[in-house]
Parts: sequence; C-alpha cells; structure tokens
Amino acid sequence: MAETEQRKQAAAGAGSAAGEEPILSIRHLSKRFGSLEVLKDISFDVRKGEVVVVLGPSGSGKSTMLRCLNRLEEPTSGEIIFEGDDICQKGVDVNDVRKRMGMVFQQFNLFPHLDALHNVMIAQMKVLKRDRAEAERIAHAELERVGLAEREDHYPDELSGGQQQRVAIARALAMDPHVMLFDEATSALDPELVRGVLDVMRELAQGGMTMIVVTHEMSFARDVADRVVFMDGGVIEEQGAPEEIFEHPRSERTRAFLGEIA
Ligand code: ADP
Ligand code: MG
Repeated sequence: MAETEQRKQAAAGAGSAAGEEPILSIRHLSKRFGSLEVLKDISFDVRKGEVVVVLGPSGSGKSTMLRCLNRLEEPTSGEIIFEGDDICQKGVDVNDVRKRMGMVFQQFNLFPHLDALHNVMIAQMKVLKRDRAEAERIAHAELERVGLAEREDHYPDELSGGQQQRVAIARALAMDPHVMLFDEATSALDPELVRGVLDVMRELAQGGMTMIVVTHEMSFARDVADRVVFMDGGVIEEQGAPEEIFEHPRSERTRAFLGEIA
C-alpha cells in the first residue's frame, strides 16, 4: 500500500493529476480472427502514471488486446485514443505509436550477435536517429537502471533468462516510451529469476511510468497495481482496485480464477 501511495505521489510530481484526460482510452475494442471473436467490446482508460494489471485465463484475449494497443494486430472495430489521437485511423504512423508505447514480451528476442550494450543501442540509432555516443550513454544508464551495469559486454547466451529480460526492458526504456506494455514478462523464466525482473518492474512503477501489465504474479498485482482488469472469453469480466478484486470479487468467474491461481 505504502508503495502505491509513493508511486502516486511520484506520478503526481511528473505532472499527472486526478481528473486529467487519460493517456490511453480503449473504447469498444473488438477483434476477430476469421469467425473467432477474440475481443468483444473492450473498454477501459489508463491515466498517466497508472499501473493496470490484466489478469485472466489462457486464451482470454490478453495478448491480443496488448497487441492491438501498439498495432501489432489490426483491431476489427473500436477506438484506441492514445495521447489524444485515435491510433486505429488510416494514415496513422504505426512506428510513431510504437516509439511512444514500449512492449516487453515473454520471449526476450535479443539479437544474439550483439552484446547487451549494443542490443540497447541499436533501435535508438535506427529508429530515433540518435548518434552513437548518445545511444551509448543512454544504453549505459538504462542497463544500470535494470541492475546490469557490469554485464554490458555480455552476449545474450552469456546471460541468464532474467538478465536477458532485463536487457529487453532496458532496450524498451531507452526509447523513452510514454507507456510500457508487459505481456507475461516473467512467464518464461525459471522461478528463481522471476524476482529480479519483477523488482525492476516495481521500480519502474514507483518512478511513475504508465504501465499495462499482463501477468500471473498475484503478489505483484496486489502490491503494484492501481487497478486490476480481469478478462475472460474476450470481455472485461470485472475491474477495480486490487483490494476489491482480490478480497471481494463480484463475478463468479473472477472468484473461480483467483481460487485456482491461489
Ligand atoms: P491470452 O493472451 O489471454 O492467452 P490470446 O490473446 O493469445 O489470449 O488469444 C486469444 C484467442 O485468440 C485464443 O483463442 C487464440 O487461439 C486466438 N488467437 C490469437 N492470435 C491469433 C491469430 N493470429 N490467429 C487466430 N487466432 C488467434
Ligand atoms: Mg498471452
């Protein structure tokens, strides 16, 4: 709780205020693959500095929802208003959207032939056109932030899964995203490596980053989320403060899911 309060204050310091326009507003988002309706009229808002944790069983549409947000998937209908613009409209620069919305996947997808430092530098130079010296300075800083200052010259196969995922987070942060999306960032890790990655995510949240986090880590959801969204069968079954969702779930499906996970 204290942690959440601290972060809210940090976020307030970063220019957020209650009642401000949401940074991201998802309205009536639907997505079908052929005849399969995967997302059915999903609506929710995310405010600056807010951490929204998305829970739900496998196949409920969590990944598809995140992928629609940064346009890795084309929504079938609905609106996604990001920093004032509907990013589903024709003519929207998808690369510009992705610059402002960083994403971390279950698989780290680092370049195997580049060391950690250069993995964090490359998109900065190619996409943001930063010069080498600046990209390197920022890569140093981001790797330090995720606790890997001493591993900069290590190649992915010389790093643990947890360290590789932290490099992937540093790579995303180096692009100065306004929102970070995490899709089961710790699900591929050996249990003893999960903690280090969650700690990095916690610190990011405390620093005021706006985050949408799909995870099965219930203690992270309880401690760090400002709001929990529970998805099932392509709909938002229930959403609310973590205390509400965990202590007093209204929906039978939420109760069943939490019962199985616990
Ligand atoms: P979750 O992340 O909650 O496990 P997903 O978003 O990955 O759920 O998947 C939701 C549903 O959409 C599943 O039934 C899955 O098989 C289906 N699906 C996801 N991606 C595709 C795709 N590219 N083509 C067809 N079906 C897909
Ligand atoms: Mg998924």
